[in-house]
Amino acid sequence: MTVILDMARADAPAPAALPGLIGLTRQDLAAALAGIGVPEHQQRMRSNQLWRWMYNRGATSFDAMTDIGRDLRRALEAGFSLARPGIVAEQISGDGTRKWLLRLEPDAAGRRHEIETVYIPEADRGTLCISSQVGCTLACTFCHTGTQTLVRNLTAAEIVSQVLIARDRLGEWPQGLAANPHPPAGGRTITNVVLMGMGEPLYNFDHVKAAVDIIADGEGLSLSKRRITLSTAGVVPQIPRAGAEIGTMLAISLHATTDEVRDRLVPLNRKYPIADLLRACRAYPGLSNARRITFEYVMLKGLNDAPADARRLVALLKGIPAKINLIPFNPWPGTAHECSDWETIERFAEIVNRAGYASPVRTPRGRDIMAACGQLKSASERLRAKERRGPEAAERA
Ligand code: SAH
Repeated sequence: MTVILDMARADAPAPAALPGLIGLTRQDLAAALAGIGVPEHQQRMRSNQLWRWMYNRGATSFDAMTDIGRDLRRALEAGFSLARPGIVAEQISGDGTRKWLLRLEPDAAGRRHEIETVYIPEADRGTLCISSQVGCTLACTFCHTGTQTLVRNLTAAEIVSQVLIARDRLGEWPQGLAANPHPPAGGRTITNVVLMGMGEPLYNFDHVKAAVDIIADGEGLSLSKRRITLSTAGVVPQIPRAGAEIGTMLAISLHATTDEVRDRLVPLNRKYPIADLLRACRAYPGLSNARRITFEYVMLKGLNDAPADARRLVALLKGIPAKINLIPFNPWPGTAHECSDWETIERFAEIVNRAGYASPVRTPRGRDIMAACGQLKSASERLRAKERRGPEAAERA
């Protein structure tokens, strides 16, 4: 495990907060340019140039933007920022999973919150797991993020920046790829993005939508919406809107097959029970065998892992083009839950398999750096303690 503490950058006093350009829609970008006197007939061309520099080349300074005249570059520099959140720590797991702890700009009360972003390399893909909120209000009993009381929505800029930072660190901008002696197959290190980090994306609908539009934009980061998955614990009224307005793939954190059990594990179920949730799933636009909903199911010893649960699960999902992802529970300090035994998971998987769902068990990744599902934030708290002892102590740990 490697820990890099970039305290200089993360702890630097926030620069006199200039408005940021990252995260703006194309329209708002043009309006920002109008604000510094760019004439109307140039606004579209200039915002296209900026867009390409920010999202296609990863520029972090206006100086780099060689096809923009010096006077305009100066004006941009005086008026706007391209800053991304600071990286407090980067951890690399024995299995290649990477996790970044990011420190955000101060909020109105001057507090600098932190979030985590995880990169999971696999043979045929690289998945970036991004956060949509600081903390989470849902308090699912098995999820560590839910024990964090402090919650705020991330801005579109903070959501998009997670992708930019991952590309910075993975050397995925054109300059880095050109210099890479072992370029990734297909030319991409990050092939998929999942909104499965901290937070409930459908409680931060507008910012998530704006961020997805930027991440999917063909002249920028250019990750197709079919390669972006939004995971929700089941905010039912927002699911049709997500289908119509965000248009990514959908994942549902189901985790139980009866309301009685789901009420306990995912308290949001008391508001939106299983039948309502699955009705919204059935109506999700564009479903087919090639475009399925992923149902996530965390395996909790003695709670939801009986063969009867597996059979009920299959029955519930009947008629929905679905993938089932069985997730071995990832423990965290203080949790009351335990992961199901391996034989129990296999028995469950076999029932699900026989019903026609392929390869359903998700291998835990990055457990050694607390980067696996539901472990986010815990490591940040640990690191904060180390930080107080200084970077050397953290490196030795
Ligand atoms: N709020 C959204 C996004 C978070 S996604 C949602 O609930 O879908 C995080 C995924 O990891 C969810 O499926 C969540 O249920 C699962 N998860 C949470 N804690 C976990 C743990 N300790 N072990 C395994 N999976 C967990």
